[in-house]
Amino acid sequence: WSRDHLPSLCRLQLTEEGHSVKVASHYNTLQECGLDERSRSRIVHMRNFNNWLKSVLIGEVLDQVHQRQREVCVLDLGCGKGGDLLKWRKGRISQLVCADIAGVSVEQCQSRYDDMRKRSHSERIFSAEFITADCTRELLSEKLSDPEMRFDVCSCQFVYHYSFETQQQADTMLRNACERLRPGGFFIGTTPDAYELVKRLEASDSNSFGNEVYRVTFQKKDEYPLFGCQYDFNLEGVVNVPEFLVYFPLFVEMAKKYNMRLVYKKTFHEFFKDKIQNDQNRVLMQRMQALEQYPADGRSRLASDRPEEYEHAQRH
Ligand code: SAM
Repeated sequence: WSRDHLPSLCRLQLTEEGHSVKVASHYNTLQECGLDERSRSRIVHMRNFNNWLKSVLIGEVLDQVHQRQREVCVLDLGCGKGGDLLKWRKGRISQLVCADIAGVSVEQCQSRYDDMRKRSHSERIFSAEFITADCTRELLSEKLSDPEMRFDVCSCQFVYHYSFETQQQADTMLRNACERLRPGGFFIGTTPDAYELVKRLEASDSNSFGNEVYRVTFQKKDEYPLFGCQYDFNLEGVVNVPEFLVYFPLFVEMAKKYNMRLVYKKTFHEFFKDKIQNDQNRVLMQRMQALEQYPADGRSRLASDRPEEYEHAQRH
């Protein structure tokens, strides 16, 4: 997403807490357990693939912003435990704000940042601020240390789908992502593909689909409300928390309210096919070990050869 320089003229009930408390406590207590070796290894490679994808996405947008300015300020919306801190460091940003609903994750993110800073010796490292907030209900602008702060990039990785529980929540999340962007700033993110999820559901003879690694279970088939279309995502015990379909055309319309226009959208598979042509990205893929080893025949191949498993078998 890019924030237009000129304001655009074109504008296109659950309990009060909804599922937010469940999501926060889930991520706060997240532990990996009960995985056999093969599942663990497949999940590790899938995570590495997701990480590679985020690295390329983040690297490219930061390069673009650096072409016009030196100092870059970033909002990591739904930062989790700080899985992207190294990417921000590598991207030579100046300032970072990390926000997440899960307080324990935010604390871990902060201590990872503190460690990184201690170990950085003479290297100049970005300053950072940490905020615990339900970004679908609270305004980050009211929690920032500097209310005038402006961002060049907002990154929302594997998070935005939690907001599609209600229109109000989806709008508040979008507002948090976009309202503090400088003109020309970018909103980047990754989220499950609603079309693919529904396609697989429709092809299944029950209300769920998956394989030995992941399972997606919808409450109902044939009914897909624009908001609150809930499904449970399970990755062998790693993630099992309600998520919501994000109907992308609606998201595009909603973003216009914040003067945002869509500049780039790809599925993981398309993104991979496109970006792996670049030598640097290919080397990075190898370094990040986004490869799956097959013990039976000793072969290895890119985890992303089977995007159908990796696109939906989600993450941390
Ligand atoms: N972005 C991180 C990454 O890529 O490593 C973490 C992704 S994790 C799959 C999803 C994150 O979204 C969790 O840390 C969770 O706490 C956060 N989250 C979910 N709902 C949220 C909300 N309403 N406000 C802020 N963060 C939220």
